Amino acid sequence: MVSIGRFAPSPTGDLHFGSLLAAVASYLQAKSCGGQWLVRIEDIDPPREVPGSAAGILQDLERFGMHPDREVLYQSTRTGAYELAINKLLDSGLAYWCGCSRSEIPASGIYPGTCRYGLPPGKTARSVRLRVSDKIIRFNDAIQGLVAENLAETVGDFVIKRADGVAAYQLAVVVDDAFQGITEVVRGADLLDSTARQVYLQQLMGFKTPLYAHHPVITDAKGRKLGKRYGSDPITSLSPLQVLRRALVALAQPCPALAGMDELWHWALRNWQLSRIPAVRELILNPSDSE
Ligand SMILES: [Zn+2]
Repeated sequence: MVSIGRFAPSPTGDLHFGSLLAAVASYLQAKSCGGQWLVRIEDIDPPREVPGSAAGILQDLERFGMHPDREVLYQSTRTGAYELAINKLLDSGLAYWCGCSRSEIPASGIYPGTCRYGLPPGKTARSVRLRVSDKIIRFNDAIQGLVAENLAETVGDFVIKRADGVAAYQLAVVVDDAFQGITEVVRGADLLDSTARQVYLQQLMGFKTPLYAHHPVITDAKGRKLGKRYGSDPITSLSPLQVLRRALVALAQPCPALAGMDELWHWALRNWQLSRIPAVRELILNPSDSE
């Protein structure tokens, strides 16, 4: 079976170092073993989107020499598929309408199940929640190791259709990963907490669970995630070669002093080893480590 990986950014700004890392890691993992690498733009959250940013991200990927193997998929074209999936879950009783507003959810963030057995009097349907069961979801993360989570204890019944009518992130990702035949999901460890929900949705919807690999998120010495700046440098002020070198170092891959982008990619593809990435959620890195 050919492995199929993906990079799935939200168009909420420029490609920053954190998302570039996920792009590079997913690209190397898929392409180093002859697989395919796909790009999906997660543009179903209009209030958060920045106009022009999807095009900018795609241009940046090209600039770094990463070309998707199929046409880019835009989630904004997929609302019909999400609606179908939500209705199926509602029809089978696995999901239900909730009339609670955000202010009614306790500070713990765990939904107390208010509308689980029908809308209480006076409430009107706002969002759709998935009924979670009190059992442990397990998956073996290729970087972080065995992960076990009981959704009833960590999130409770979670939203799959938001009050504004938009499909929730968790649902859209699961529907699209299945639709695109994704076999491996390589992304930042900031999404590790979403994974058990996604695995549970896959189980309910009869989809295969892909291989998951969550690489550490790179922070500065103060614990801040590296975003548009890398250390003191905005990544736009560095050459793509310099940024790629920093990405390889951040992913714990050896990085020889090669002069050209093509040479470095060629080398990285031949020497990529996921097992070198440390099993931690956050990693502090000095920009000078890659010099
Ligand atoms: Zn409710």
